[in-house]
Amino acid sequence: EELRGDASFDHSPRQVPGYHYSRVQPTPVADPHLLAWSEELAAELGLSRPPEQGAAVEALAGNRVLETMKPFAARYGGHQFGNWAGQLGDGRAMSLGELPALDGTVREIQLKGAGPTPYSRRADGRAVLRSSVREFLCSEAMYHLGVPTTRALSLVATGDAVVRDMFYDGNARPEPGAIVARVSPTFVRFGNFQLLAATGEIDNLRLLADYVIRRHFPELGEPSPAVYEQWFAQVCRRTAVMVAHWMTVGFVHGVMNTDNMSILGLTIDYGPYGWLEPYEPDWTPNTTDFATHRYAFGQQPRVALWNLMALAQALTPLIPDPQALRPHLDDYVATFTARRQELLRRKLGLSVELAEDAALLDELLSALAAAQVDMTVFFRQLSHRTSDVLTGTADEATAWPMLLASAAYPDSPAEGQAQLQQWLLRYMQRVRQETAAPEDIQAGMLAANPKYVLRNYLAQQAIEAAEAGDLAPLQRLYQVLKTPFAEQPEHEELAAKRPEWAREKPGSATLSCSS
Ligand code: AMP
Ligand code: MG
Ligand code: MG
Repeated sequence: EELRGDASFDHSPRQVPGYHYSRVQPTPVADPHLLAWSEELAAELGLSRPPEQGAAVEALAGNRVLETMKPFAARYGGHQFGNWAGQLGDGRAMSLGELPALDGTVREIQLKGAGPTPYSRRADGRAVLRSSVREFLCSEAMYHLGVPTTRALSLVATGDAVVRDMFYDGNARPEPGAIVARVSPTFVRFGNFQLLAATGEIDNLRLLADYVIRRHFPELGEPSPAVYEQWFAQVCRRTAVMVAHWMTVGFVHGVMNTDNMSILGLTIDYGPYGWLEPYEPDWTPNTTDFATHRYAFGQQPRVALWNLMALAQALTPLIPDPQALRPHLDDYVATFTARRQELLRRKLGLSVELAEDAALLDELLSALAAAQVDMTVFFRQLSHRTSDVLTGTADEATAWPMLLASAAYPDSPAEGQAQLQQWLLRYMQRVRQETAAPEDIQAGMLAANPKYVLRNYLAQQAIEAAEAGDLAPLQRLYQVLKTPFAEQPEHEELAAKRPEWAREKPGSATLSCSS
């Protein structure tokens, strides 16, 4: 059966009880130009790159709605910073419908910034170029790093100005507008279920659960109370895997509200996210969260669990014994721990499993937090130096101080660095127990430790150039992030740790929720 949609095409901001979504029309923009295009995603969809302007770009900007498109905005709610916020919904996103991918799966195509919907509340339904560049670059970078994520197909400049009350310096000023076409099997979030449970729309809750299970978890079979439970278990596992990836690449989502949690366990809603520079578990890029640090890097595993509990709560009307969901929350913790260990083992080149390894990994995380070195530089350098030490081309007495010197920031605490150096000595004893050849250990580590991630200041440089009409830095960064594990000697400087000048610069280090 079908989900319920309000087809009144009424865009006035309002509550939309009784419906899963609202039919909407994009609001046309002045002069759309294609700024960036994902060749890889397009290939999956059997699409080819359109010219910079023209019919295809008009469609990607919402100016042209094809007969086959049935644009809608989804109705959902959520907990924002731990507080129930009631109805939120797609205030500036609208789905055009679904496209079949060449692999037989179906993908929803969603325009972000295409104009107001019934869920826009007091906002304009638009997106600025800077936040659109950030979403485009980061979702594609995450994909190429192997992190579960929604994707971005296109980035289109609208030719319209958008005014934001919070810009880098807190002053309102017009900025160029843009629209990202983002792509996912579905954009259904925890918050879709939460709102239906909160408003007592239990029929709709069941309809949505059945729809999601049939379309996106068909291996579970026909919906039933037992299947709802198995489905929840799957959501817990996928969420655990996603967060384990975040914690091993240094990604901080920034706004892990329950409306920003995908039911498929994909990273969704790239807003005030950031990448760890010094390894500081308490770091968040989100200025809106500076008082509590609720969504800081090190909080993410716990917050995801909190969000899963909120989802469990929303699903209880469908399950005769709600206590049955508890073990799956425990399973989240076990899955997260196991997956993070597995990812860390790959980063460290450990294939043989030894009893002492869990402690070694825990001590690494403590030492990193104590030393506050650059996580990406640390692991990448470790990949080279480990095999140098194993083959005798370097000795530990010089290799480790050199590694720490290149990964440390001026503020990295000396005692912490000493702790990390002690850890490196232990680690080397451990690596010597591996059976693989040093060159194979090195190859495995280089394939697990990216050289290039979307450093905050690099994204900001690409944005500032794009705002001034120069797309070259954006294109270069995007190309480099497509092969993050490859040495790219001509782009060496994009692998460098954050320069000191970029330290406290808003936009490079800190972002507000309006990002
Ligand atoms: P977020 O913090 O990005 O998850 O957004 C929270 C809510 O605000 C969602 O319902 C968004 O659709 C809505 N929202 C954010 N920005 C805008 C905007 N510019 N216009 C309309 N709605 C917005
Ligand atoms: Mg959101
Ligand atoms: Mg957002």
